[in-house]
Amino acid sequence: MKNLNGGCLCGRVEYKVPDNLIYAGYCHCSECRRWTGSPFSATGGVKASDFTLSKGEVFLSSFKKGENSLSYFCKHCSSIVYGEVPKHNMVFIMLGTLIQSPTLKPQWHIYTGSKVDWYQISDDLPQFTGAPKT
Ligand SMILES: [Zn+2]
Ligand SMILES: [Zn+2]
Repeated sequence: MKNLNGGCLCGRVEYKVPDNLIYAGYCHCSECRRWTGSPFSATGGVKASDFTLSKGEVFLSSFKKGENSLSYFCKHCSSIVYGEVPKHNMVFIMLGTLIQSPTLKPQWHIYTGSKVDWYQISDDLPQFTGAPKT
C-alpha cells in the first residue's frame, strides 16, 4: 500500500500514514472553527499504530482538545498537524497537511447546526446537524 506524507508549514514536522484512512470528513462545530481558524476542520482517522512521525518530535507541542483528544502542533510555525484519541487508539490527521490526495475522500459534514452562515456546502455528502449517527 502506498503511504501518504504530510507535515507542517515550515517543514520541521513530517509524518506518514498508509493510504487507508478509516474515516474522513468535515466538522463545522464551534470548537473546530476556533481550533483551526477556518470555517470547518477536515480530518481523517488512522489506527494509532499506523501513524509514523518521521521528523520533528522536538518541535511538537500538544493541546488537550476536549476530554478525549490531544491536538499536536508545530511550535515553530503553529500548524496543527495531527491529534490523538488515546481512548480509541486512534490518530486523526489534518487533511490539509497531506502532500498527496488520500484515496478516501471526506464522507460527511458533521455539526452543520454550528456552521457559519458565510460558507455554503455545495457537495452532496450527507450532513448531520450534530454528531454523526452511527
Ligand atoms: Zn512547522
Ligand atoms: Zn468539530
